[in-house]
Amino acid sequence: MEWIPTRAAGLARLAAFLPDAGRAYAERRNLDLGPQDRSNVSALSPWLRRRLITEEEVVAAVLSRHSAAAAEKFIQEVAWRTYWKGWLELRPDQLERFNAEQGALKAELDRDGHLSRRYQRAAAGETGIACFDAWVAELRDLGWLHNHARMWFASIWIFTLGLPWQLGADFFYQHLLDADPASNTLSWRWVAGLHTPGKHYLARAENIDRNTAGRFAPYGQLNETATPLDEAPRALPVTPLSPAERQPVGPCALLLTEEDLHPESWALVGEVRAIAILPSATVAAPGSPAARFSEGALDDAATRATMHFGVPCSMVAAEDLPAWLNGQGLSVVVTSQAPVGMIAAQLRAVEARLTVKGARLIQLRRPWDELLWPRATAGFFKLKTRLPEVIDVLGLDPGAPRLL
Ligand SMILES: Cc1cc2nc3c(=O)[nH]c(=O)nc-3n(C[C@H](O)[C@H](O)[C@H](O)COP(=O)(O)OP(=O)(O)OC[C@H]3O[C@@H](n4cnc5c(N)ncnc54)[C@H](O)[C@@H]3O)c2cc1C
Repeated sequence: MEWIPTRAAGLARLAAFLPDAGRAYAERRNLDLGPQDRSNVSALSPWLRRRLITEEEVVAAVLSRHSAAAAEKFIQEVAWRTYWKGWLELRPDQLERFNAEQGALKAELDRDGHLSRRYQRAAAGETGIACFDAWVAELRDLGWLHNHARMWFASIWIFTLGLPWQLGADFFYQHLLDADPASNTLSWRWVAGLHTPGKHYLARAENIDRNTAGRFAPYGQLNETATPLDEAPRALPVTPLSPAERQPVGPCALLLTEEDLHPESWALVGEVRAIAILPSATVAAPGSPAARFSEGALDDAATRATMHFGVPCSMVAAEDLPAWLNGQGLSVVVTSQAPVGMIAAQLRAVEARLTVKGARLIQLRRPWDELLWPRATAGFFKLKTRLPEVIDVLGLDPGAPRLL
């Protein structure tokens, strides 16, 4: 599997996977056949994460090939990404809390030699648990792991190695091509038993043996009786989504960020006169697969945007945006709403500076997010049951009778 950071490569992977996105996916998706064989899953996450390709078009493509019943499982998996995004969007404090805890634990690593040695052994893939050590190597070398491997990895990290989940989430975040604050942080919490209190995910040797087709068989090496993690109950306020913004008619600049690199499908009304793109926000080490994917994706988006809108695209640091916009003789810059995370924080600061200068940052929300994020108030089920209606409203299933 080669992850090439262009929209064209994402679309090619989607096309190649389409025949297997129906019942075959539902039956075989849990198998981790190893890095040489990713035929049973889409491996689309690095492209979806940055919206080099979008959820809507992936769902529409799958429904153009399979019946809604056959495609149900795959579409639900795509919706997990949306669920985690929506969940965090409604509770931004969760990420603040994670960042603070993770920062404190990193400082602790400098003080606590015992914790530091155990962490270093795990991060170097020197635990002696063959499957875990192989996944560390895969993560470092390729920047990607199968979903089941991510679940086993996180579970072994927390329950067998006894390491803090926040350090594991941070380790993933530094290496994954698809590193995403919502899917990553909340999946680690889910494995730990903190997302659904009292329900954790325990990696079992028999399950790993069966689902890796015998590549790994860590019998006797795993803690298979651990209890879920606990944390002091802390009320997390649910912040309702602010109403989606509308773009005023008139000339504007576009701002591309790594949160959405397909401006060709933004619902724009004004004439685009200039385009800026924010530098990469990845925390991955320079030259690592994740850093390279990130930089390549930005280049690809800048090239496409230039071709599509017929104006050049410049890389502009967030703090320089107000001056850049002013230099273009414009007072409105339009972007796609950045969900909770580093880029959203950058945009808040940009917006404040623009406002002082009498200019505006408009954040458009995609209809997929607008319809589904508000459903992430409780468990996934509530959002899942809305999917057929959303697919209908957005017209994503060419063969379906209209529900509404
Ligand atoms: C501990 C842990 C950490 C994770 N961290 C991330 C992360 O940082 N970024 C990320 O994109 N995904 C993360 N995931 C979710 C999931 O593992 C990946 O999205 C999935 O492995 C991608 O493989 P795929 O593209 O072949 O998925 P497929 O099985 O082909 O599914 C299609 C698409 O659906 C979405 N999807 C599928 N399963 C999930 C899921 N459980 N949660 C969210 N979206 C899903 C992805 O966009 C995926 O590309 C994490 C899961 C765990 C257990």
